[in-house]
Formats: sequence, structure tokens, C-alpha cells
Amino acid sequence: MTVGALRERHVELLRQHRVADGLVRGRRKLDRGDRYYTWSQVAAEPSPARLHRLSALRLRPDAYSVAELCASQELLDAQSAELVDFAELAGRAVRTPFFAGVFPTGSMNALCRPMPGAGVLVLVDTGLLHLVPDVLKIMIVSRSAFGQEPLLEPSVAAPALAEVFNAHLFGNGAAGARVLPELAGQRRDLLRLMSRRAVQFVVAHEMAHVHAGHLLASWRQTDPNTPVGALDTQAVGWPREYEADQVAAGIMLASLAEVSPWERDTIEPYLVGSVLLVLALHEVVAVLAEATGRSLPFAGSHPPPLLRIQSLVGHLAAHLRTSESIAVAADVATWLDDRVPGVLEWFRMVDVEA
Ligand SMILES: [Zn+2]
Repeated sequence: MTVGALRERHVELLRQHRVADGLVRGRRKLDRGDRYYTWSQVAAEPSPARLHRLSALRLRPDAYSVAELCASQELLDAQSAELVDFAELAGRAVRTPFFAGVFPTGSMNALCRPMPGAGVLVLVDTGLLHLVPDVLKIMIVSRSAFGQEPLLEPSVAAPALAEVFNAHLFGNGAAGARVLPELAGQRRDLLRLMSRRAVQFVVAHEMAHVHAGHLLASWRQTDPNTPVGALDTQAVGWPREYEADQVAAGIMLASLAEVSPWERDTIEPYLVGSVLLVLALHEVVAVLAEATGRSLPFAGSHPPPLLRIQSLVGHLAAHLRTSESIAVAADVATWLDDRVPGVLEWFRMVDVEA
């Protein structure tokens, strides 16, 4: 069996759940018409119009777009080949056919679906693939970076994030938040690196379950409340979740093996920042879901994010080249935490509007 069989099962699943009838590349052009062209436009429209737009998304999420799904799948495909190399370098290569497919699961963790006779299909949330780069982008532009002034007025970061989290929590994993302006130069490079490593960490976590043989002792868990109805995953228990985080972080650190020592010291902090950003996002999404009465699919299948962060930081401390790496990661998480009250404030205003 090959990855091709898993690819077919993935498309079958998209069809079964009425997400898309196929992933034919180039069939429809990617057109996300609603966008911000400059950073001064971001979250700058009059409040009533903005609140109306955010609450409208809650009432009528966008439909799934085949072009959007294809773009996300291409992104995962491009990252997967590299991830397989990192796993090899880390001595964690997976011999079972393994395929990461995009799917509106509503869960920040990817869902592991062993396909008897074919391999392991891993479903990565469509919403996560929008959330990670959008949050990183807002972080990068609202802070001074590379000796340059912020592009986005720092006080606008919270309302800008509110729009992104609103789309994530209420948009069913279809494209939702207004598209943010593109970045250039070093900022763009940083965004690309961190987004890529963050998403790869999510997939590497599932790879770790497969490599460690966790699925052999797993049990099926079904959640009826995903964006597309009931979905299954394999649960493995909290101790194995901690282990998978550690193995996945090791796979990500192996990406530094092929760069020069100087680059390693420069990149490692951002790599650790990307990994911990994923878990910090779990925490923020959980807080926002709780505040708005949303239930997150498969909550409880993994340990609470703060415990995962604690456990992973403790593990990483012994495996990093520089202590600076944890400091940068903590700084990313603190920046995000500090924006949460502002995001909640916008969520309350949208509630009133709705
Ligand atoms: Zn897991």
C-alpha cells in the first residue's frame, strides 16, 4: 500500500461529510475577495460595521471552498516531505504509509485515523491552517522587529486577533476572517518559518504516536459536535500524549541538524517559539470557547494545554543549545496571553450585536 491509497480515503471522507466532492487542483481559482490591502485598514472600520460583520459570520459561516481546500492541501503536501526528512534525522522515521489531509475537524490536534491495510490518515483542521499564520502575522507586525517600527498599531492587535479567533471558533473551518496584507522581507521569512514549523509540529505529534506504537493500544473516540457532524479519532491516554509532544519536538529540533551552527543559534528560539505557540493557541482557544459557550471537539482527549506546555518546556530544557530559546517562546506565549482580555471584550460586543 502507498500514500496514494490514503489520499483516496481522504477525498472519500471529504465527500462523505459533504465538505467537497474532490480535490482537483486548479479547477477553481482561489479567490478570497474580502481582504485588507494595507495594515492601516486592519480593524479600522467603524465599530458598528465591524461588529455586524463579525456577528454575521457567526450566523452564516462561509461554505467550504474547493480552491481553498486545495491550497491548504498543497501546503500540507509541501511540508510533509520535509517533515519525513526531519523524522528520519531524529531517528523517528515512520515505516507505515502516513498521510496528512486537510479536514474541518474543529480540533487543534490532528485526528489519527488508522486505515486497515492502507496506513495512517491524519486529519489536520482547516481552521488551524488559517489560525496559525494569521496570529503569527498579527504578532510580527504589531511589534518592532529587525530594527523596524511596527506596521500595525500595537493597540489594534487585540481587535485584529478577535476577528481571526471569531472566524476560527464560529466559521466551521471554512475561510472566514478577512485576509490580512502580505508581508515582505525578513518579516515574511519569519512568518513562513514559524507557520511551517508550527503546523509541522501538529503533524509530527501524530507521527510520534505512530512511531511509538501508541495506536496499537488506542481506542476509538467519537465526537458528534465537529463542524461536519460526528467524527472518529483514536485516543491513546494522557501519558502517551506527553510522550508524543516530546518526540514531536525532537523531530522539529532535528530540522536544525542541516544548518550551520550560527544559523542554528539564530533559528532555534523561533523553532521552539513555533512549537509552544501551538500549545498556547490551544489554551487561548479553550478560554475563548468557554467564554462563548462553544464546546471544542475532542476536548479532554489530550491533557490541558498548560500542563502540556509545562511538560514540554521541562523536557526541552535539557535538549536546547541556548536558554534564549525558551525565553523567546515564553515571550510569544505572554504576548498572546496579554491580548486575550482585549479579544474577549470584542467577543462580548459581538454577543450583544448578535
Ligand atoms: Zn496525540
